[in-house]
Amino acid sequence: MIKLKNYINGQWVESSGLEYLDVINPATYEVMCQVPLSPAADVARAAEIAAEAQKAWRRTPAVKRVQYLFKMKAVLDEHFEEIAQTITKECGKTIGESRAEMIRAIENVEVACGIPMLMQGDISEDIATGIDELMIRQPVGVAAAVVPFNFPGMIPFWFLPYALACGNTYIVKPSEKVPMTMQYIFEMFDEYLDLPPGVLNLVHGNKVAVDEILQNPIIRAISFVGSTPVAKYIYSQGAKYGKRVQAQGGAKNPVIVLPDADIDMTTRIVADSAFGCAGQRCLAASIAVTVGDARRTFTEAIADAASERVVGYGLDEAVQMGTVIDKGSQARIESLIQQGADQGAGVLVDGRNAIIPNFESGSWVRPTILQDVDPRSEIAGTEIFGPVLSLMHANTIDDAIAIVNGAQYGNMACLFTSSGAAARKFRYEAQAGNIGINIGVAAPMAFFPFSGWKDSFFGTLHGQAKHAVEFFTQTKVVIERWPKEWSRQF
Ligand code: NAD
Repeated sequence: MIKLKNYINGQWVESSGLEYLDVINPATYEVMCQVPLSPAADVARAAEIAAEAQKAWRRTPAVKRVQYLFKMKAVLDEHFEEIAQTITKECGKTIGESRAEMIRAIENVEVACGIPMLMQGDISEDIATGIDELMIRQPVGVAAAVVPFNFPGMIPFWFLPYALACGNTYIVKPSEKVPMTMQYIFEMFDEYLDLPPGVLNLVHGNKVAVDEILQNPIIRAISFVGSTPVAKYIYSQGAKYGKRVQAQGGAKNPVIVLPDADIDMTTRIVADSAFGCAGQRCLAASIAVTVGDARRTFTEAIADAASERVVGYGLDEAVQMGTVIDKGSQARIESLIQQGADQGAGVLVDGRNAIIPNFESGSWVRPTILQDVDPRSEIAGTEIFGPVLSLMHANTIDDAIAIVNGAQYGNMACLFTSSGAAARKFRYEAQAGNIGINIGVAAPMAFFPFSGWKDSFFGTLHGQAKHAVEFFTQTKVVIERWPKEWSRQF
């Protein structure tokens, strides 16, 4: 059985610990390899190496640093299909979804190539006679990413290219459930990128490794993406140890369907949002609130769309929805569907106990629709993270927005309408970091920050774009006096 290694100081090294975890293909349940659950010492070693490498990396001009990113883009482009297939094999999503994920990853590398301009400082001359004041940006030092299972190829790239371009050295800790994608990407980087050793490091592991990332004084900034309880933990522990932290948490995203919405288009888009990636997307629509007459037409149409979705092995190009991540997740999702029913919801389309011919061992849940979900019920606020859409109803747009704004989370909220006035009202009033108008997955392009409100985000500066530059640099203000008499000879 292949045992994955860590990548530290430009070399593949075995974990110094003995613990390993099986990495499974969730569609076939075959064990593909084993991932080390690295002890704290491995993270500490990576941190020391990264700190040493940072001394020269920060002195490398930004325009030269981004040359590596141009190469990085070329390497990712060149190995695009192998990476996408690896994502599908370990994560269970469809090959189309894996390709889309990698397009978004590469987009971040492209945007980070513009960082020399974004790192520009400011200068004010003669703030007093002969005195100038400058603000310069410098890297924070060694930074690390702790990322979730659902986008193993994309999410590290919300941070990694910006961190490097800004002059930091970096440690990536992938999800132990899906370590192969980053392993493969690092293998390609190792072969083709020629980055100075220690600039980019990979350490596999679980909470033990994360706790060392939090506590190790060398690591100055942490980017986290995952569930809300862990995001809160990372944020509070990071603060305790005096670090910069951006922590993206969970979600339960509502979409509102107004009576004037184009029902065919809305149904198609909401179905893609709710059931795409088997609902394991932090921007998945998980609640649809119909307003007025939209209730009947949308309910019928979305039930048909859910029932018709083609579920199967993600490598089959005809498949529209793959597996959930593992049997544990399947059991949790099925039990939450039951809880919904116990709390008064109707199970309009029931995706439990799914069997996919030739893939009977996989962790399958088919698209599921709960209807008449009470917004005050527990299930209405619980992140299911599976292909389950909860239907609610409101009499007015104000009532629907009140449901949206009553939520614990604030990752995304969407409105489906043909009314500009309704759209503007919604955009203004909805309490969420990513807003969609006739859009089902309001994922910002890499040149916008990936926002999030309430329990979906802890921190100030988000991933991607200018926020990433702010996060990965610290400002230094310099005040200089140059008495006139000193420069008389000039
Ligand atoms: P998770 O919180 O279980 O794990 C995320 C990372 O944290 C992993 O690398 C894991 O090893 C580590 N980890 C887990 N438990 C830990 C602990 N107790 N202490 C320290 N580290 C720990 O999340 P997941 O199940 O991998 O991913 C799904 C979650 O991520 C969902 O809640 C989803 O909404 C969220 N997510 C959010 C966004 C966003 O942009 N807001 C994007 C993707 C996923």
